[in-house]
Amino acid sequence: MDDASERSERATRTERAGEAARERACKGARGAKPLGFTIDIVTIFPRMVEGPLQEGIVARGIANGLLDVRVRDLREFTTDRHRVVDDMPFGGGPGMVLKPEPLFAAVDRIREERGAPNAVILTSPDGERLTHAVAKRLSALDHVVILCGRYEGVDERVREHLATETISIGDYVVSGGELPALVIVDAVARFIPGVVGDESSVAGDTFARGGLLDFPQYTRPADFRGLTVPPVLLSGHHAEIEKWRRAQALERTRRHRPDLLDE
Ligand code: SAH
Repeated sequence: MDDASERSERATRTERAGEAARERACKGARGAKPLGFTIDIVTIFPRMVEGPLQEGIVARGIANGLLDVRVRDLREFTTDRHRVVDDMPFGGGPGMVLKPEPLFAAVDRIREERGAPNAVILTSPDGERLTHAVAKRLSALDHVVILCGRYEGVDERVREHLATETISIGDYVVSGGELPALVIVDAVARFIPGVVGDESSVAGDTFARGGLLDFPQYTRPADFRGLTVPPVLLSGHHAEIEKWRRAQALERTRRHRPDLLDE
């Protein structure tokens, strides 16, 4: 089997396993909000997105039917022989701009196949900053589409008439919306019940603990090259450990992110 067909074979298998698991997960919950979260990612580089989705927590969420992620190749929504997705900017200037037609066609297709999404997110450095709160808000939806820009960006009509919101992963520019889309998927997936095995792990994360950074963690060995672990953690005294952790979290937040304490 060549690379490409092996990949698509693997993707189909994952999809099938996901569907079966989803059916199992949804049984008995008729009428209630269906379990799981549906995401469509539209990109000119599907392979860049598919790889990371096959590892770790997100991959497990997909295999368990809690996440249903489909990656759509933008070029499949072109109508010309050369499958052109970009064009020169009106008014001149460097670089190319993603054309509106394939992006609108992709969302039309998604709507036909999977119903209307609750949100169409355009990735863009000038969007709303992705935060804990934004990820949590998105996780309450059933179905989101994420559009990955490239080159100089995306025709403005996509932002105004197709996207329902615009999200940035931070104040820097990366070369495309693929990595931002993966960051969004991962951060949102952590809030979908069952995706992270131990829910208390998410509740204790940085930003979740009442806006505090996480406390320092240690594991064995207790003495590594003479570097020892704070004795309180070895004491077995749970109340003391909790107190120490809380103090550390506060101290770290004060030192590294005092702005979080003002909020
Ligand atoms: N010329 C644009 C940057 C284009 S970068 C500008 O100055 O705003 C190409 C694409 O990468 C963008 O369309 C967007 O989809 C994605 N991208 C780049 N940086 C990003 C960020 N910080 N957050 C989200 N998406 C980003």
